[in-house]
Amino acid sequence: MARNEFHKDAFVILKKVAKEIADEQLTNDQKVIDNVLFFAIGIEKLLKSIIYDINPLFILETPDFKNSVPLLYDTLIKDKSEINKNPNGDVIAFHSSVMRTITFSKAALENKNTLMKLKNARDIIVHHNFNNLDVSELKTLLQRDFYPLLSAFSDEHNLGGQTNFFNNLHSKLARISSTLQDDIQKQISLKIEASSSHWNTLKGTHTFDRKKCEHKTAEMLSKEIAFPFECPSCNNYGVVFTSPVLEFDSYRNEMRQTGSETKAFKCYFCDLEVTDYKELDYLKVKPDPSKKQEIISLYNQLEEINSLTDSHST
Ligand SMILES: [Zn+2]
Repeated sequence: MARNEFHKDAFVILKKVAKEIADEQLTNDQKVIDNVLFFAIGIEKLLKSIIYDINPLFILETPDFKNSVPLLYDTLIKDKSEINKNPNGDVIAFHSSVMRTITFSKAALENKNTLMKLKNARDIIVHHNFNNLDVSELKTLLQRDFYPLLSAFSDEHNLGGQTNFFNNLHSKLARISSTLQDDIQKQISLKIEASSSHWNTLKGTHTFDRKKCEHKTAEMLSKEIAFPFECPSCNNYGVVFTSPVLEFDSYRNEMRQTGSETKAFKCYFCDLEVTDYKELDYLKVKPDPSKKQEIISLYNQLEEINSLTDSHST
């Protein structure tokens, strides 16, 4: 069987990025953009290496027998007449690599929004104009998120990150990242504190209308792209807005949804709103499709009970 060569490529590329970050070489926009592109390529190869280790066929776009046998077991083939002369060795795209890796990797699951941020930045770099990029945000993505993201992958999958990802510059990288990590933790704590105290004041006022918040939440949850998530600030259910991740299915010759990307969280009780990828990952915001109907009927039902009680009391 062909060897998994994806690790090796990922290490070469990511080491180069590590050195640029540690040596504080991100001094202009172009250097940031170049390094984000290498970061994205390195991560994509890393994700493929993880999937490949589970089963090499999982990285193929069309892993049917005629394509997979010549790619993986070429030396074992005795009769080539029944297999593909030009095997389709196309591998899956970045977003599919993310979707497939989260099945097997906690590091990928817990950093899904960061990975999708990187994927979206890569798409803009490759397909659109550089002026569509928020370069200062991308600089933070390199300085703050490169080190903990790869540390998580290295720890979980025993990849020897210290040498293989960080080029033995881990203490420098950790220092650069930790200052910015502190900032994001502070930023999130302040945000949660603000909406908690807003909620505590609000729910005590006579004019506060709980039914209205429940109704609004149920109404938003009825949208196809919306799912419930317990609000980290007030513990009511808020709404996670997603966008579908689509992949071309060559068997059915059509686009098909392979996953979803979290875009934002909004609570209609305490008004907490989170759209930043890092904040979404930090708060572990995750759409919960299994609770969707339950929460919609809970918030609608309560309204009915309340209105019944209201009509009895009048
Ligand atoms: Zn809330």
